[in-house]
Amino acid sequence: MPSRTLNLANGLFDYATWSHFIFVAMFLVIIIIFALMNQTRYSSHLLDNAVSEFAKLPGIGRKTALRLVLHILRQDKSDVESFAEAIRSVRNDMCYCHVCHNISDSDTCEICADKNRNHRQICVVENVRDVMAVESTHQYNGIYHVLGGVISPMDGIGPDDLNIDSLDDKIASNAADEVILALSTTMEGDTTNFYIYKRIAKYGVPVTTIARGIAVGDELEYADEVTLGRSIVNRVPFDKTLTY
Ligand SMILES: [Zn+2]
Repeated sequence: MPSRTLNLANGLFDYATWSHFIFVAMFLVIIIIFALMNQTRYSSHLLDNAVSEFAKLPGIGRKTALRLVLHILRQDKSDVESFAEAIRSVRNDMCYCHVCHNISDSDTCEICADKNRNHRQICVVENVRDVMAVESTHQYNGIYHVLGGVISPMDGIGPDDLNIDSLDDKIASNAADEVILALSTTMEGDTTNFYIYKRIAKYGVPVTTIARGIAVGDELEYADEVTLGRSIVNRVPFDKTLTY
C-alpha cells in the first residue's frame, strides 16, 4: 500500500507539512512581487529619491508623488527655491506660543499678543487646526488654549500628557470670565471636558461648552437620535438665531 509520507529528511516532513511549506513560500513570493511592483525604479536616482521623500507625506502614494515631482521639475528655479525655503522654515523657525500653545512665529502668538481681544475669555481646543476652524468663523474674540490632544486611556494619553497644568495656571492668574470647552463630541472629548470642568471648579469661573445639535442645512429626518435629542434639550430663543 503506497504511503503518503515523503521519506525525505529522515521522514520528518510528511505530505501535510510540505503542502504548508509550499503554500507559505508561494504567499511570500506574491508579497515580494507586489513589493517590487510598488518600488518602481526610475531612470534617475534623484527622481527616485524625490518621489520616495514625497511619498512619505500623509495621503501621498508613489504615483501622486511622481506627479508632484514632475510638476516641480517644470517650475522656475526661483519658485522651487521659495517652496523649499518655506518647507525648511516650517521645521526650523516655527514654534509654539508659550501662552496658548498655538503655532507661532515668535514666543507669543499674534492672538495672545493682540490687546483688542478679550483675554478673560479662554476657548479650550484640542489642536491648532481647531484654533484655525474657530477663527475662520469670525464669531470669537477671546484667546485660546491648545491642549495638544484629549484624554484617551486606550491610547495611553492621560491628563499629564496634555497642556492642562498651564490652563490651570492661566485661569488662576488671569481672573478669567469664561472658559469655553470646544472639544470634539467624542467619548474622549467628553471625558476631557469633564476632567477640566472638575479640575477648574475651584476657581468658580463659568464654564461653557459649544452647542451640540443639528448642523446648518441638515434635515431632521436624517439626524441621529442623540443629536436631535440634544438639539431639543438645548433649544435656544428664536430671536438669537436671527443674528447668525
Ligand atoms: Zn498664543
